[in-house]
Amino acid sequence: MTVCNSCRYCEQYCPVFPAMERRLTFSDADLAYLANLCHNCGECLYACQYAPPHEFGIDVPRTLAELRLLSYEEDCWPRPLAQAFRRQGRSTAIALALGFTAILFAASALLNPAALLSGRSDADFYAVVPHGVMVGLFGAVGGFVLLALGWSVRGFWRRLSPEGSPPLTARAVGRAVGDALTLRHLHASGPDCVSAEEVRSPWRRWSHHATLGGFFLCFASTSVAAIYHGVFGWEAPHAYTSLPVVLGTAGGLGLVAGPAGQWWQRRRRDPALADPAQQGLDESLLLLLWLTSVTGLLLLVLRTQPIMGPLLLIHLGVVLALFVTLPYGKFVHGLYRLAALVKDAAERAASDSV
Ligand code: SF4
Ligand code: SF4
Repeated sequence: MTVCNSCRYCEQYCPVFPAMERRLTFSDADLAYLANLCHNCGECLYACQYAPPHEFGIDVPRTLAELRLLSYEEDCWPRPLAQAFRRQGRSTAIALALGFTAILFAASALLNPAALLSGRSDADFYAVVPHGVMVGLFGAVGGFVLLALGWSVRGFWRRLSPEGSPPLTARAVGRAVGDALTLRHLHASGPDCVSAEEVRSPWRRWSHHATLGGFFLCFASTSVAAIYHGVFGWEAPHAYTSLPVVLGTAGGLGLVAGPAGQWWQRRRRDPALADPAQQGLDESLLLLLWLTSVTGLLLLVLRTQPIMGPLLLIHLGVVLALFVTLPYGKFVHGLYRLAALVKDAAERAASDSV
């Protein structure tokens, strides 16, 4: 950053460089802020005259990626679980999904064997896992996940915002949310971000949009279904044309296409742009999102078939694995980046007003 601050060649690419120029020295919190402001578009690596094999060996995208991981660990709650960020991978994701599925099968075999083995064809999920059990289990896990995510982001925000920081305004928050949802800074200087020198494609951005859109739609589907059940007393299964099923199907398709596209893009990208230590972190989240949506869509299609009971338990096992890894996996990057974008918008508003 000190070399970049003297050079300033890349200042038009993204908000990282203007934010860097607003500083003369760089504390750990400043570096965590800049690291999370970076969208890893790759532009500045290929523009840099000091990139490897130059003796300075400056690789801003990889360096900031390494610093992002350190920031996740630094602010993780509870702190001992910070080590999970470096231990995740495809095998841990699969092991967690299988473990939770096995626990659910064992519990069902003990407590409700008739419903599991009867080969039901009435799509009645709550006959296999009672509604109260489902709400209690996912409510408890979801509550812990929200607490862990909230406390971690709170710690990150407090580090970014020492006394004397620019005030937070609704306008700054709105601007940051807009930037995050449109992935405005992922394109950097060109129409699309780079995956290697002079190789540009929109697929990384589109895959990311499909993943995030799919996630929101699935969340909306679950929320609408909960309102149907709790407020109106309309219990699942819902018709294929009902709002929860339409939202869930669209979200599920987005979460099949998006993570698959991101996985494919990761494999094709120049390795110099990434931190090799985070390969497992990225792949764990993508795999669990993909498995969640595939098992969810299969459950929807086969809900009137005798296999519905076992399929429901497999789907719930995968969802539990996804949930428990959210605060200790790549999912946190969205929240940390949003916090960094909010701070950037507040800093820009303050400097514009001077
Ligand atoms: S990445 Fe390289 S070219 Fe860009 S500002 Fe830093 S030193 Fe200059
Ligand atoms: S990789 Fe892209 S977003 Fe990150 S610092 Fe370089 S130009 Fe900015």
